[in-house]
Amino acid sequence: MNTLIERFLRYVKIDTQSDDESLTHPSTAKQRDLARLLAEELEDLGLTVDYDEEHCYVYAYLESNAPDAADDIGFIAHVDTSPAVSGKDVKPVIINSYDGHDDLLDPDEFPELNEHIGEDLIRTDGTTLLGADDKAGIAEIMEMLSHFKANPDIKHRGIAVAFTSDEETGNGTEYFDINRFHAKQAYTVDGGKFGIIEYECFNAAMATVEIQGKCVHTGSAKGIMINASLVANEFINLLPSDETPETTEGYEGFYYLDNIKSDCEHARMQFLIRDHDLNKFAARKAFMQDAAFTINERYGSELCSITIEDQYPNMAVFLKDHMDIVDRAYEAVRHAGGEPASEPVRGGTDGAVLSSRGLPCPNLSTGGYNYHSRFEFASIPEMQKSLETLIYLAQV
Ligand SMILES: [Zn+2]
Repeated sequence: MNTLIERFLRYVKIDTQSDDESLTHPSTAKQRDLARLLAEELEDLGLTVDYDEEHCYVYAYLESNAPDAADDIGFIAHVDTSPAVSGKDVKPVIINSYDGHDDLLDPDEFPELNEHIGEDLIRTDGTTLLGADDKAGIAEIMEMLSHFKANPDIKHRGIAVAFTSDEETGNGTEYFDINRFHAKQAYTVDGGKFGIIEYECFNAAMATVEIQGKCVHTGSAKGIMINASLVANEFINLLPSDETPETTEGYEGFYYLDNIKSDCEHARMQFLIRDHDLNKFAARKAFMQDAAFTINERYGSELCSITIEDQYPNMAVFLKDHMDIVDRAYEAVRHAGGEPASEPVRGGTDGAVLSSRGLPCPNLSTGGYNYHSRFEFASIPEMQKSLETLIYLAQV
């Protein structure tokens, strides 16, 4: 078996599941089990390692071996796996030359699989996730470094690496210290299908709507009671029903009612607001403010309040002056024998936040699929090509 896959199988067996409910960072101490190991392995590979054990971030740097190398380049991946599905006791199963017949990976259910007939795949045993998100990215970065160590004649740029914690709980960049990261530009290696280069994502905000009702005995409620649950329903009905996640795609934005908790006296709702376009994003936020205003006018009192917090920005805004790193990624994918393409991410990436903080950071593919699920799998040839892409990008 090749060393990339050996490495990957070793990493996925380490349980690093993060926890949404936790109030600490890292959200789970076990993420350090992998971070510590990676810090050691990076040192063995000859890098200068700077391990922030408290927050569970590993930074490392390999100096260039070429005097006239281009600027340093960075690669970032995350150690944690999704809270959604267990990552404990992962028992990867290798399918040699996948033929479309498999208990778990059924092309009728996942049409994408038709493109992987004949490939060697790695899947789960059906009881856990696999952890290709993002241990495929980690394995590819580590294997790239190992390649340069084994082949000292190959000239490479200065390479900065960071492994972060709690990406899956949305806190991956919370304690990321750009000053401890040597490169001025980087790639997150956290995508899926080989060849897809992501550099556009949503602008994202969360709106919290609170409604104060007036609860009295139902027998004597006439003309007095204000049922906060029903007012919440009125609020929801003010939003366009065809601008939801389930009715939109591509560049279309949406409002998503994420959760609602209500009784007669009080209702609280949280909405996610998403749009790629900054003007439309601002309009969506204003629209929600107006909806609260409309409710208050109807009732002649300030019973509805709304607070909107920005979550992450569309990285395209910050990358537009750094499109050379996207172009280079296109070139690298072609060099690895792939057909590069870009899709607007209908979500966000850690790279989005880092880009807004001054570290331009598009996202590269890893060759993993069906993330956050028992049906997660990785394509061995695509992992191999993803590795070749990284090697190309780091070479002089
Ligand atoms: Zn990921």
